[in-house]
Order: sequence, then C-alpha cells, then structure tokens
Amino acid sequence: MTCKEFEKQIPVFLKRELDFFTLKQFVEHLESCPECHEELVIQFLITEGMQRLEEGDAFDLQSELSDRLAEARSRIRFHSLFLYVGAGVKTLGIALIAGFVIWVLL
Ligand SMILES: [Zn+2]
Repeated sequence: MTCKEFEKQIPVFLKRELDFFTLKQFVEHLESCPECHEELVIQFLITEGMQRLEEGDAFDLQSELSDRLAEARSRIRFHSLFLYVGAGVKTLGIALIAGFVIWVLL
C-alpha cells in the first residue's frame, strides 16, 4: 500500500468499514510509515473530536485510537489464524460429521 492509498483509506478505517485484506495492508503500512501514522492520528482527532464535541462527551481520544488499532490488530490476527486453519477445520468438520452420521447409522 502506498502513502496515497493509505490516506484514502483513513476515513474508511475510522468508520470501521475496511475489509480484512485492506485492513491488513493498512495496519502494515501504518507500522512502517511514521508519516502516515501521524496523518491517521490527526484525522482521527479531527473526525472523532468534532463528533464528541457535538455530543458533549468527555473523551480521551489518544487512548481510544490505540484501542481502535489494537482492535484492528486482533481482528487481523483472528482472521489470519482463521485463514490458516480454516481449510483444515472445514475438512475436519466434514470428516467428523460424516463419521458421526456413519456411527449413528450403523
Ligand atoms: Zn505512508
């Protein structure tokens, strides 16, 4: 992902609407590019900050952004794990169901 693409995805990320593959590239770029990290922080503070001011909420946006990123990372870990084991689990599941059906029938 280039810096330009990253910038374009920031609003989508903030709305939590990035699909898994884009999110993965997004976080990878974020971790390797301090400029884009800075840009994300600024955009987050602007978009979320404006909204919060309207709602009159007390807020701690810096830690909220960290939470948001932690959430994104755990989503990526979960999805990656799922992708790796997904195929195996599916096969195993089918084998188990088939085995159970056979066991019930016999
Ligand atoms: Zn960048």
